[in-house]
Amino acid sequence: MDAVATVSSAAIEVVALTKRYAAGTPAAVDRIDLRIASGSYCCLLGPSGCGKSTTLRMIAGHESVSGGDILLDNRNITDLPAAARGTAMMFQSFALFPHLSAVDNVAFSLKMKGVAKAERRRRATDLLERVAMGHLAERKPGELSGGQQQRVALARALITEPRVLLLDEPLSALDPFLRIQMRAELRRWQKTLGLTFIHVTHSQEEAMALADTMVVMNHGLIEQVGSPHQVYNHPASEFVARFMGGHNVFDTPAGAVAVRNDHMRIASDAEGGTGVPARITDVEYQGTYVLIGLELEGVAKARQAVSVLLGEAAFLARPWTPGERVHLSWAEADERVLGLGLGVQRPAAPAPAPSSALRDDTAAIAAFSA
Ligand code: ADP
Ligand code: MG
Repeated sequence: MDAVATVSSAAIEVVALTKRYAAGTPAAVDRIDLRIASGSYCCLLGPSGCGKSTTLRMIAGHESVSGGDILLDNRNITDLPAAARGTAMMFQSFALFPHLSAVDNVAFSLKMKGVAKAERRRRATDLLERVAMGHLAERKPGELSGGQQQRVALARALITEPRVLLLDEPLSALDPFLRIQMRAELRRWQKTLGLTFIHVTHSQEEAMALADTMVVMNHGLIEQVGSPHQVYNHPASEFVARFMGGHNVFDTPAGAVAVRNDHMRIASDAEGGTGVPARITDVEYQGTYVLIGLELEGVAKARQAVSVLLGEAAFLARPWTPGERVHLSWAEADERVLGLGLGVQRPAAPAPAPSSALRDDTAAIAAFSA
């Protein structure tokens, strides 16, 4: 118990953090600035190859940095070895040793450090009890359920008394049902332990379910930082709106705007429809909702596909069919004007403006979640 009770959480800050794997290639992580509050659940989110794992590995100390700094509670840890940083990593599908019992898996890093057997078993057993696994301490991973394995992996990461837990796609190898159960459990443990979690995922749904703070990345840059609510309701760029899904992008005199697909009105000519003309291409029944796919005419290819999400009752009252010509409209208040996005066009280097904007965002998140 004491091993965990005495652990404290820490804030992480990265300043102009950069990784270039080879000279002359684009930076995998390009001068990013980010502050993650102590005790918060932060998700790094973005498509494959955008630099999430590289960022996490640099924080962990498993990857050298090409530039910039990493601070843990204002202490510069950039050049410290991984084991001296106060961070610990939990890997995809938990990566437990199959031939070792739960307690030996948890005790493993203490064995590497030369801690005596009785002492390391005592500490590992304490931690397994802490994650409600004390009664299964002698089982091997193959004799445990996915949820139980996750708790062993968590205990194994916690035995080094980290102040920040780093998780790289910890759920992505699980089947969908287990994944949803496990993410709820991760969230509960993060709250119970009060530790800072930094969790990498390419799933916007997973990030929205877990995060206090979402960091949306694109091409080695941060596009947006905010609570799930802020990011979903105020996407900063077309990239974020499209990556998060559930949004349509339209060109207006005010520039590109995003409108949530559940905030759209749809009507035929006969029903007095006005607005953007479109043709229905697909109708997809989803249970609570029905997703209508449409194509706009006379707009750029990238803007053609849009969608409307209707409640099941609204759809049953007026069932739309593929091929119907309709008009789409929306309230101006539901328009979100989109910026260019850093991944599309980075402002002239090294401008202080983006980092201070991100910091303001972080302050806003703290206020929002307080
Ligand atoms: P993500 O985790 O978001 O999918 P990564 O951080 O793994 O992205 O990769 C970011 C970019 O860096 C990609 O273009 C990837 O190909 C490249 N990259 C990652 N690891 C290495 C490596 N060890 N050597 C060279 N390039 C790498
Ligand atoms: Mg990755």
